[in-house]
Amino acid sequence: MNSGAGVGGLALAAFISRNPQVEVVVCESKPEVSAAGEAIAIWKRSWQVFQDMGLEEELAKRNFPTPKEGEVRGPIYRKSDQKEDGYDFHSHLMPYGPLSIPRPKLLEMLQAKLGPNCKVLTSKRAIDFVVEDKSAQVAVLFSDGTRDTADIVIGADGVHSTTRKWVFTDFANQQTDPVKAEAYLQLVPPKWSGTYAYRCNVSAEALQAKFPGHRALTNPYIVSNTSDRGHVVSYPFGAVVHFICYYSPPGKMLDTVGDAHVVDVPKQHVIDAFVDWEPEVCGMLEVGYQFSRWTIFVVEGLPFAVNGRVALVGDSAHAMTPHQGVGGGQAIEDAHLLGRLLAHPKTTKDNLPVVLQIYQDIRLPFAQQKAERSRLNGLMYEFNHPDFQVNSKSSRDEMESLGKAVGETFGWLAKGGCDDDWMEAEERLNKLAA
Ligand SMILES: Cc1cc2nc3c(=O)[nH]c(=O)nc-3n(C[C@H](O)[C@H](O)[C@H](O)COP(=O)(O)OP(=O)(O)OC[C@H]3O[C@@H](n4cnc5c(N)ncnc54)[C@H](O)[C@@H]3O)c2cc1C
Repeated sequence: MNSGAGVGGLALAAFISRNPQVEVVVCESKPEVSAAGEAIAIWKRSWQVFQDMGLEEELAKRNFPTPKEGEVRGPIYRKSDQKEDGYDFHSHLMPYGPLSIPRPKLLEMLQAKLGPNCKVLTSKRAIDFVVEDKSAQVAVLFSDGTRDTADIVIGADGVHSTTRKWVFTDFANQQTDPVKAEAYLQLVPPKWSGTYAYRCNVSAEALQAKFPGHRALTNPYIVSNTSDRGHVVSYPFGAVVHFICYYSPPGKMLDTVGDAHVVDVPKQHVIDAFVDWEPEVCGMLEVGYQFSRWTIFVVEGLPFAVNGRVALVGDSAHAMTPHQGVGGGQAIEDAHLLGRLLAHPKTTKDNLPVVLQIYQDIRLPFAQQKAERSRLNGLMYEFNHPDFQVNSKSSRDEMESLGKAVGETFGWLAKGGCDDDWMEAEERLNKLAA
């Protein structure tokens, strides 16, 4: 059973349901499978997963292009922390042209790949799990008072995961040392990354009228600011320019806060936060509409993603900052490796807990490494990285070396690797079954 019908949960269900002998149930807490949020960027590794899933056909039906091998023009990085005009310090050539898919479309395509042996139940919120004997089944309790059982449960229930709560509370309950127990309990709530993301859209027509030739109309760009610890990412999308203003208030760092995650905010609130930026940024905010503030939570440093017959995938195991745009891709990669293992003829009811460990050993360290890469990119964008301390007086040469270093951090996204991970996983499964 999968808890959660987001990107990770549906991709996982699609892979498992390739084996007609496995019954898959996906429980989604919302009344429908839907998703608000940013488009998901499909880089080379996720593209390998898409090809394996046969999604090319679904993409073609919806007139999406395929990703492009080789270098393509990426965002312009610009220093913007001054009232007078800022300047570009890096024009990024991406090593690979990713495909960007609006999230609702991606979920629609994943649903098209579910087998007849897969059921998706909506308005079905998992609230707790009961495992009386780790070699037996897992009972799932739902908020509507019902209960179901499964051989395994996979928590694909996002950053505020109920499954993660069960996994680490159960580990805590097994400890005799209260310090160790407390350390496990500390892993349950997600942490605030220290950053807020203010999201909003601008009509391209209105922006052109206010700022003829504004660079955001034609090219993605990222502007950064030293003193306010912020950066703005914008990219044109048809008649609209999307932009996200990231703001990391100085003096506050990782801390656990409540659940409030997305709230609408008045436009003036954002204008005030970005008041000292160059005119292009302020002008873009003035013509923006529908501002919301997203608190960026992360899930860091979990020592495990598996407890017996319960496992975590995607954000529930490793929610990360969005500064490389790879959180969704990492959820898809988890789903690919775990889903193929679970659909494999050599996986049996008895060896399921060891199969889950194979998934954990290969995927968790990799995704955590990418989460750290993303965190460091955020520091680079906000001129706060320990190795690249630049400030408003930094020379253009210093800025350019920061830009070059940012460019290099994207190199891994042009390389494949999912197939190699799968070969390693299958080899371990074959040895287990021998
Ligand atoms: C501002 C921002 C920008 C981003 N930009 C990008 C980007 O450009 N590219 C990219 O790849 N990633 C991006 N991400 C990250 C990406 O959104 C996530 O990594 C991805 O959605 C994780 O997928 P998931 O399936 O693990 O979780 P989710 O997409 O969060 O899905 C979890 C699902 O579980 C359901 N659920 C929750 N609790 C329960 C429960 N108890 N019972 C049943 N169902 C439950 C939820 O309703 C939801 O449908 C961004 C994130 C943010 C915040």
